[in-house]
Amino acid sequence: MQFRTAPFNNTPIVPYMGKPYIDFTAVKAAVTMIQVLAHYGLMPTMSAKKNGEALEGPCPIHRGTSPDQFKVSIPKNCWNCFSECRCGGNVLDFVAKMEDCDAHEAAIRMNEWFDLGLEKQPAPQDEGRLGNAVTFGSQPKHSGSVRESANMPSPPEPEPPAGKEEPNAPLKFALKYLQPDHAYIAERGLTAATAEEFGLGFCKRGTMAGRIAIPIHNAEGALVGYAGRLPGEPTEKRPKYKLPEGFHKLSEVFNLHRARRVADNSPLIVVEGFFDVMKLWQLGWKRTVSLMGSYLSATHERLLTEAGQSGGIILLFDEDDAGRACRAKALQRLATKAFVKVVPLSREGAQPDHLTEEELRSLLP
Ligand SMILES: [Zn+2]
Repeated sequence: MQFRTAPFNNTPIVPYMGKPYIDFTAVKAAVTMIQVLAHYGLMPTMSAKKNGEALEGPCPIHRGTSPDQFKVSIPKNCWNCFSECRCGGNVLDFVAKMEDCDAHEAAIRMNEWFDLGLEKQPAPQDEGRLGNAVTFGSQPKHSGSVRESANMPSPPEPEPPAGKEEPNAPLKFALKYLQPDHAYIAERGLTAATAEEFGLGFCKRGTMAGRIAIPIHNAEGALVGYAGRLPGEPTEKRPKYKLPEGFHKLSEVFNLHRARRVADNSPLIVVEGFFDVMKLWQLGWKRTVSLMGSYLSATHERLLTEAGQSGGIILLFDEDDAGRACRAKALQRLATKAFVKVVPLSREGAQPDHLTEEELRSLLP
């Protein structure tokens, strides 16, 4: 099998005609064909060949049906359609064909989808015309300077939160006298049955006093801690969530023990928050789990890959900088081990548990 090179494979830098500047080389280096196929939900249509070094399937560009007309080389990060299209190319060419746009527009879209953080800058000769440099994607928090895009082979790594990936010991007690009919639980759209299933309730005494206590179990189903959510709006002094001192949140995936018990082939839906999980669970998506934040640890990666082996994984993160950065990183790390689909939300700032049932049904299988 020969992979032909697209005629515009080595286009050095973008045409610049008042459009944002973006480095093709950096985009090609940052995004794999697997990530792009996963973005379009095409991984289930592909089968692995050559000891996993190649993929074969029907051509998504001309919407062919023959299972071996479209071939992808994973080490070369390129593709070829041996049927109607009779062409091939790199990852950027593929997106341009799929989106029916030019390579420049494809690069801009990929920068957004995968949160590459490749800043667009006015070209030097255009300084003054466009004024100050504009940026998109997420900016590294530690730096005010513009990064060298060519040296940016992967999406930005979200700051790892403090803590270790050690197992949390099962608790020797359980909180008693939690009030499950607290107004805040109903305010978040959860029913009494959901509150009961998840064991949550308003806590009046102890370290979680004045908060809604949310039990956290490990993958085996043992109770390992409680998260406390302040009912109402948090202030600077009183954070929204409180975890027990010494709790290792990088070691747990919330609701994984329940998701594991659902023995069907439905996808594992990964969200960011406790309330996203509970809302989706209530609406029938029983295999929904969360990371308790927007950072994917090595333990998370292993647990999600195992649980998503049969039905694949859907990433449904908050539509904000932290959510997009985690989504891009999670996609990059999980897509080589399981079928992964990204579901972006259409509104900036949106989060899954604020969506209506109708909106969720239009997004999720
Ligand atoms: Zn084709």
